[in-house]
Amino acid sequence: MSRTGDDTMPVGTMAGTPQILLAHHLKQLKLPTVLREYEKVARECAQGGVDYPRYLLRLLELELIDRERRTVERRIRAARFPAVKSFDTFDFTAIPSLNKMLVLELVRSEYILRRENIIALGNSGTGKTHVALALGLAACQKGFTVTFTTAAALVNQLLEARDERRLIKLQRDLQAVKLLIVDELGYVPLSPTGGELLFETFSQRYERGSTIVTSNLPFEDWTAVLGSERLTGALLDRLTHHVSILTMNGDSYRLKESAGRRRAAARADPSQATTVIVDPDTGEITTP
Ligand code: ADP
Ligand code: MG
Repeated sequence: MSRTGDDTMPVGTMAGTPQILLAHHLKQLKLPTVLREYEKVARECAQGGVDYPRYLLRLLELELIDRERRTVERRIRAARFPAVKSFDTFDFTAIPSLNKMLVLELVRSEYILRRENIIALGNSGTGKTHVALALGLAACQKGFTVTFTTAAALVNQLLEARDERRLIKLQRDLQAVKLLIVDELGYVPLSPTGGELLFETFSQRYERGSTIVTSNLPFEDWTAVLGSERLTGALLDRLTHHVSILTMNGDSYRLKESAGRRRAAARADPSQATTVIVDPDTGEITTP
């Protein structure tokens, strides 16, 4: 900024207190980054001979970048992820049954614009929740609103809302979110009313928003969870109309990791070596 001294600056009505007034106005206008940065950037611009419009442009660009970051953070908090996970920490080689190309395409979040769904199926510990969380995070970063829940928690929430006569409001909120993630369908069998409320949720979102469902059960076993063949058929019909299916069958990452740690410990101290038997169906560990 070309500036020969304070005497060339226009004198305001309250000369001597521009900083105080600026702080007030910038707070009122909700421009916290401009407030934080304007003096520093002014010094830099003065040194570099940058003119007023470019000074203002720099400040506003900083505000926009910060605002976008704050919005993403707010979206992530609103999603209520139990943990923040991304694909940076996901090892695709650990789960060869998973179509990596498809996942990388889904990370772009364009399926949300098309209101398509994703179903991740596979046994326990294969990274289904991790993938759902990472897709949820990507969606937040791309500007979509996300809600993360488990099937059991969602059904409880719906039942509670129904009892308290605020079901419609909850259903409207669940309909409005761009991406609803329902984790762990299948671990807990649902009551008939619970099954119907879950069906209603999926049905109301049909072609309106995207839903990600993860389950440890193949489709043919969903009836046992939802309690009715008719309901399961209707639910799958809606859910799978526009869907990407992620097949995630394989060894449990959790078990593999802890087995690796045990092997490392046994190498360090052979007297500690133990044999473990892992039940391939339940993942239960026993020592003979
Ligand atoms: P699931 O939901 O299928 O039961 P999780 O996603 O909870 O499995 O995975 C169990 C743990 O292992 C989590 O801490 C997860 O981050 C980790 N994990 C699973 N698969 C992978 C993978 N391929 N790469 C990195 N971490 C993984
Ligand atoms: Mg899980």
